[in-house]
Amino acid sequence: MTKPAEIHYGIDIGGSKIELVAYGDAELLEERFRKRVATPLHSFDAFLDAVCGLVQEADAALGSPGSVGLGAPGVTDPRSGRQLSSNVPALNGQALGPALQARLNRPVSIGNDCQCFALSEAHGGAAAGYPSMFGAIIGTGAGGGFCQNGQLLRGRNGLAGEWGHSALPALLQQKYQLPLWSCACGLTGCLERYVSGSGYAALYRYFSGGKTESMLDVPAIEVLAEAADPLALKLREMHLDLLAYGLAQLVLIEDPHVIVLGGGLSKLQRLYAQLPEAMARHLFASVQVPEVLPPRFGDAAGTRGAALLALQAAHLA
Ligand SMILES: [Zn+2]
Repeated sequence: MTKPAEIHYGIDIGGSKIELVAYGDAELLEERFRKRVATPLHSFDAFLDAVCGLVQEADAALGSPGSVGLGAPGVTDPRSGRQLSSNVPALNGQALGPALQARLNRPVSIGNDCQCFALSEAHGGAAAGYPSMFGAIIGTGAGGGFCQNGQLLRGRNGLAGEWGHSALPALLQQKYQLPLWSCACGLTGCLERYVSGSGYAALYRYFSGGKTESMLDVPAIEVLAEAADPLALKLREMHLDLLAYGLAQLVLIEDPHVIVLGGGLSKLQRLYAQLPEAMARHLFASVQVPEVLPPRFGDAAGTRGAALLALQAAHLA
């Protein structure tokens, strides 16, 4: 068996830039190299050139080849290895992992942004020391990843943790007289449409009658609520209840020891105090509700989580 690589590259693929960070220690806290380039959006060959160029530069700068982990947008089809639902058009339908492995002559581990976030917070992050954790990203969408003993659970389809695409329950839909909104995934009434940051803003817009002056973002709604605006207060309570319902379902299915929030809504400090109590109302009396914690690494999770994918693959090989 060959010795696992000592240096791990985490590559975060975004809609505008590709960033590589090389980590040189087992805790993945020591940065050895960092570089970013613009994301080629429409040519798969140009995309491969960009990633391989970054890897080769890092290899040259560090004097030895590192292992490669990639955080890619969308979903990787587990049967074909092809990328689906990516916001980088050049990647859709392409077998990114196999193509990169062939060009870089080394294994390449791929996960999505939610999986990278969960792994990063499970290892030395906010969830360090807990046997199991759920990393919930609540921003423009609502996704997440589940880690047990520091290992990511991927599941059959690679979508374990996609809690945002379960349906709003009739109980809450009727209680709040909610509209049924269709989701980009093809289903209707997905929780993501209501509990994400964009969902929160959409609910405010809907209940204020859809007026253009009601096109507020989450920080603006929060400011109104702090000033005791009745509609903003009502929407804040409603959103909290819907979000708490979604996270309570995770407790019933996966029962994590802790939940770490990521994405734009993780900046709402009030959620860390309010969510456990709000979740308890959706769970039976004997359930110990997990702590809900802010992230330690936040935006750095993309590259760090991707490097952890590489580290884990290297040690399992
Ligand atoms: Zn959906």
